[in-house]
Amino acid sequence: MNDKPIVIKDPDFSRDNEIRPFQIEGMDVRGRAVRLGTVADQILVAHGYPEPVERIVGEMAALAGLLGSILKFDGIVTVQTKSQGPIPMMVADYERKADGTGHIRACAEIDHEKLSTFGANPSFKGLIGSKNGYLVITIDQGADMERYQGIVELKGDSLSDVIHAYFESSEQTPTAVRLAADRDPVSGHWRAGGIMVQHLARGETGRERILDRETEEHWNRASTLMHSVKESELLDPALTLDDLLYRLYNEDGVRVFDATRVQKGCRCERERLLAVLGQFSADDKDHMVVDGKIAVNCQFCNKTFDFSPEEVG
Ligand SMILES: [Zn+2]
Repeated sequence: MNDKPIVIKDPDFSRDNEIRPFQIEGMDVRGRAVRLGTVADQILVAHGYPEPVERIVGEMAALAGLLGSILKFDGIVTVQTKSQGPIPMMVADYERKADGTGHIRACAEIDHEKLSTFGANPSFKGLIGSKNGYLVITIDQGADMERYQGIVELKGDSLSDVIHAYFESSEQTPTAVRLAADRDPVSGHWRAGGIMVQHLARGETGRERILDRETEEHWNRASTLMHSVKESELLDPALTLDDLLYRLYNEDGVRVFDATRVQKGCRCERERLLAVLGQFSADDKDHMVVDGKIAVNCQFCNKTFDFSPEEVG
């Protein structure tokens, strides 16, 4: 546990904690940009992970925002990694609420012994292990909709590389992604950001993709410009997403759509945890009692719920 204060309120002028969809004029290119200020800080400070882990979990949170903002209805997008490295598991998810806002949460499991062998600045490959790791994206849009799941190997030098490979193999949609998470050099608070562009197929849905020379050139230009973005620009509190998009694409023209507001969220509730506890045998429950109570920790938000043995029954 740590006792650092958690920033709750954003200043009124803040343009943090939003996802901005955009389209580049005259091109079959669409994209989204995400900026997490207090949301990233609240998620990461609650855990107090070692800094290299915080950085990558921050990127996972930004990624959940980029992918989750695709949801047109209430639902949940989950990004999860499994590996044999110092981070055996990471997960971030985005829940689209009925009011259209997004709730993001994220956490990681850490093998501290393994992590200690990688020094102060472990590479992405070091953190997630060099083989047998994978990343799963799950899209759940309620009972009536089919659950979608896609998987990709954890290969590459960054989370962005993995996502790039994912879209190439699973969706055959050329996609470029940049992600960043770091402490603000002035305030010391965590921030995370990301941008993603996709080359949409021209023509009707279901038909073969039309990729002629002109659209290829468009795509090359749009993705090259996107890759020119600096990490500091993805995170800079003084540079709004709109200004960032303008900086990147003003020569071509960029059209932005309504932003989605995001906040830190979690789905842990006393009632739900109580129901889970109810499934254990009386003997198991007896063993859980410490100092006269059963403490259950939510791994997502690191909140601890105390139950009395009578309450659990
Ligand atoms: Zn929770």
